[in-house]
Amino acid sequence: MDAAVMTSPAVLILLGPPGAGKGTQARMLEENFGLVQLSTGDLLRAAVAAGTEAGKAAKAVMEAGDLVSDGIVIAILRDRLAEPDCAKGVILDGFPRTTVQAEALDGLLESTGQKINAAISLEVEDGEMVTRISGRYTCGGCGEGYHDTFKQPATTGTCDKCGSTDMERRADDNAETVASRLEAYHAQTAPLIAYYRGKGALKTINAMGEIDEIAHGLNDIVASAMT
Ligand code: AMP
Repeated sequence: MDAAVMTSPAVLILLGPPGAGKGTQARMLEENFGLVQLSTGDLLRAAVAAGTEAGKAAKAVMEAGDLVSDGIVIAILRDRLAEPDCAKGVILDGFPRTTVQAEALDGLLESTGQKINAAISLEVEDGEMVTRISGRYTCGGCGEGYHDTFKQPATTGTCDKCGSTDMERRADDNAETVASRLEAYHAQTAPLIAYYRGKGALKTINAMGEIDEIAHGLNDIVASAMT
């Protein structure tokens, strides 16, 4: 890119209900565009595993499928954003999830002179979510995501990317919790679609198809949002 038109690091937001494929697609965008995926869900699960104060406060809330308090999530995200690798540009996966978080993000970016390149809404039907979520699992070695029906590794139980055989299923990926997570999405997160539309930053993509097909469409959106 011409130095004269170089801009500050890109900030992309992936919006969408649980199971829409935000994590899977964020990982692909991370590879394709050299960005850093920031998943507040991953950061919170790490805090729970490490037994930090934030993790202790978040554990039961996450198990119930509710949203962790804005204060905890904003603090975790702010600290992570301040780490040097984020200067490459970031893809926010699972943040913001409330208007308070969206406004806090605006404030954080304003203080560093950055702006949101695009907030991309992955559109999927609720009926599809339970099937998608209940079949998914992740490689414990590298975080690559898999699915019983939609994306199996070449060798059953072995990660295609890193060869690990340590596969994990999330505790909150069960039918009851998924219902609460969908409810939280519709009540607290879906209003962000209008929020970003109002700022002229909203892009939408039909996320009901094949993973590769969606990735292709997303790549085009991100490429144009980064120019
Ligand atoms: P995820 O991995 O994005 O599906 O998030 C898993 C769980 O972490 C959610 O169901 C929430 O309990 C919590 N969580 C993740 N991100 C946020 C956020 N931005 N705000 C509040 N809670 C969150």
